[in-house]
Amino acid sequence: MTYLKSLTMAAALAVGGTGAFAQETFINIGTGGQTGVYFVVGQSICRLVNRGTAEHNIRCTAPSTGGSIANINAIAAGDMDMGVAQSDWQFHAYNGSSEFEGNAMPDLRAVFSVHPEPFTVVARADAGIASFDDLRGMRVNVGNPGSGQRATMEVVLDALGWTMDDFALASELAPAEQAAALGDNNVDAIIYTVGHPNGSIQEAVSTTEAILVPVTGDAIDALIADNPYYAAATIPGGMYDGTPDDVSTFGVRATFVTSANVPDDVIYTVVSAVFDNFDRFRGLHPAFANLTPESMIADGLSAPLHPGAERYYREQGWIQ
Ligand code: GLU
Repeated sequence: MTYLKSLTMAAALAVGGTGAFAQETFINIGTGGQTGVYFVVGQSICRLVNRGTAEHNIRCTAPSTGGSIANINAIAAGDMDMGVAQSDWQFHAYNGSSEFEGNAMPDLRAVFSVHPEPFTVVARADAGIASFDDLRGMRVNVGNPGSGQRATMEVVLDALGWTMDDFALASELAPAEQAAALGDNNVDAIIYTVGHPNGSIQEAVSTTEAILVPVTGDAIDALIADNPYYAAATIPGGMYDGTPDDVSTFGVRATFVTSANVPDDVIYTVVSAVFDNFDRFRGLHPAFANLTPESMIADGLSAPLHPGAERYYREQGWIQ
């Protein structure tokens, strides 16, 4: 909580709106598990920001967290300045729907979107699981509370008319633990809303024989048709051992969000660090390879843009 106060003070001391802070200013970014891609997003952004600390006096850290919902809640509480969150949960947090019913966050602000995140199901090859329907009665890691995949899994179960009781076991392991649980035969399948390729799924398919399972059917088609933040998605064949063919599912986008209470100069500095060094940023993870500024400032954003980001995008001529 204290850093927001120091941010506000530092913002008041910022030299002529140049984004240079008169006193050292600490900012933090909520990410996800260390084997996911959010952690790399946060670490990459901080690395680019911290290259310029001598000029702007901002120091950035990006700790591991529980994921999307935890990050949004931490931003709402003033415990985090920025965070990575799935586009579906950005939408619901801003609008006060679904998981955020009665708990709207009107101060939530979009900064940019990042990579696509297919809803990914990985099953042990010996479990006889060929489709999402086959998960009924199985031992499934449904994800840690606070993660985006756990919340999105609940949406999928609702859409199918299932509950957690339809599984023989619904475990709540975090991403860093799920590959080992699959390998040790403690669960039959794991789910993860995540960019590809990533360390967690890589670890799962290299510790045991495992396959990616398609997530398709009428209920999924309806979710995609009825909600702007969902889209059909494909995990390319050959990305992981054991799955030579494309796998169809649905997905969201990873987005980078903040609060209207974070000063414009801070967000302007962060956004400049990413887009002034865009090729370098894109090279920091294979899931970033196809990113373009055009799609990043438009796709998957439902909260208003933060004014500090807007200023940079306007200067670049990317928005009016
Ligand atoms: N989409 C996941 C979440 O919202 C995180 C994925 C990752 O860490 O890359 O919690």
